[in-house]
Formats: sequence, structure tokens, C-alpha cells
Amino acid sequence: MTCDLSEIVHSANFEALLASMEDSIHYHETPPDLATVLCIYRAASCLEFASYQAFAVSALNNFYPDTALNIPKFNAKAPVYSHAIDVMRLGRENISQLAGVLKRTFYELARAPGDLLRFCGQGTTAASFNDICRLGTVKQHLAYAWLTLATTAHWKATNCSGGDSCRINKFQSHLRKNYVLQCGNDPLYGIEKLLSEADSLEACAECLAAWRASLEDRRNGIWEDLADWIDMPETDTESESESSSPAARPNSP
Ligand SMILES: [Zn+2]
Repeated sequence: MTCDLSEIVHSANFEALLASMEDSIHYHETPPDLATVLCIYRAASCLEFASYQAFAVSALNNFYPDTALNIPKFNAKAPVYSHAIDVMRLGRENISQLAGVLKRTFYELARAPGDLLRFCGQGTTAASFNDICRLGTVKQHLAYAWLTLATTAHWKATNCSGGDSCRINKFQSHLRKNYVLQCGNDPLYGIEKLLSEADSLEACAECLAAWRASLEDRRNGIWEDLADWIDMPETDTESESESSSPAARPNSP
């Protein structure tokens, strides 16, 4: 009995897998781009090539790290944004392997400006109805978290040692003027920007420490809450399967 390989793995994915076999040493030095990693993951999953699958999982986790630290400025042309739905779907369907990428894919999509409906039917895969709803929820929570921080936070420490020369609360007006709109749905990048300005703060050591601790606490809280907002499944349960779309299968291009 013969087997038509093209029936079980898309040619583009198989081609990427073959290239990874030839270039494995090169890939060790210079990892492939995100689109290639996705192809390798899909082909290796179909063919049950465990080591190449593990390589792709590791690479995907590097592209979408499970951390709120060092969030860069949003870039609509960045591959981590343009492939976020593809990776989100793979994460949902292969939760035991790719749970770590889910939060970051949601964050990339939810912080993007514009209407969420554009994610319904574009690209190589579409987001599931449930994930579109979750993205709406995440977007609302992110906007609320940022507005709350920008409009209600006060960082004057009770043990402030700077007196009138400590100008920590002046920073609040700086924040409102320069960042409230700029970081609307993107509190993690906003917090990253604020922390990067620590050296410019004219504040005493006590207030500076309280300010830093407050921002870091809020950043950690948002990342922790994200698990609830996206209905993060348990990793030891069966993966969630929310779509029967052929495009969502592992060997989709
Ligand atoms: Zn102070």
C-alpha cells in the first residue's frame, strides 16, 4: 500500500521540515523565522518527528515568551502579530505542548488598535468564535487596567524623605500627558516605558522604590489575570477543540 505524503502534510510545511534537517547546524546558530518555525511544527507533528517538533515548540516559546517583562512597542508589521492567530490556534489545539504561548498571542492581538472582527476570517486561519469573544474581554480589561493606573495611582510614599524636593507626584501629570492615549490597550508596554524613565525621576529613594514596586506589582497582576481572561485551560487535560475548520489542522499552510 502506497501513501501519498501530500495528503497528510502540506508541501510547504514538508519543505520547511526538509530544509530544517539540512540546516540544523545553521539553525542552531541562527534560528529560522516564525513562518518557517510554524511550518516545521506542523509537518513534524503530522509525521511524529519528535525532535523537530520539540525544536519548533522551543522556538515558538521564544517568539511568544510566557512573561510580562520586556514587552516591546506594538508593531503591526511584526511577525509575532501577523502570525498570532495561527499560533493561538495551535496553542489551543496542542495545549500540552504550547500552553506557554497563549497569553502572549492574546496580548499581541488584544493590544492592537482596530476592530476585532478583522480576525474572524482573514489569514491562513481564523480565530474561533470563543477566542474572538475572549479577545474582546481582554481588550476591555487591558484598557481598564491602564486607565486605572494612569488616573488613580499615587506614588508618594508614607516614609518619603525628600520633602518638597521629592517630585514623585509630578510624574503623574507627565504620565497623563504623554502615555494615557499612546498606551490605551497596552498597559504592559506602558509600564515598561514608565520604568525606563526611572532615572529621570526627581524623587527620593523611598518614593522611587515604592513607585517601582507598584508598577511591577501591577504588571505581574495583569499577567496573572490574563490566564482567567483567556480561559487558560489546565495543561494536564485534553486540548480544547473549538473548530472543525480544515485550515486549523496541523498541516495547514
Ligand atoms: Zn519622596
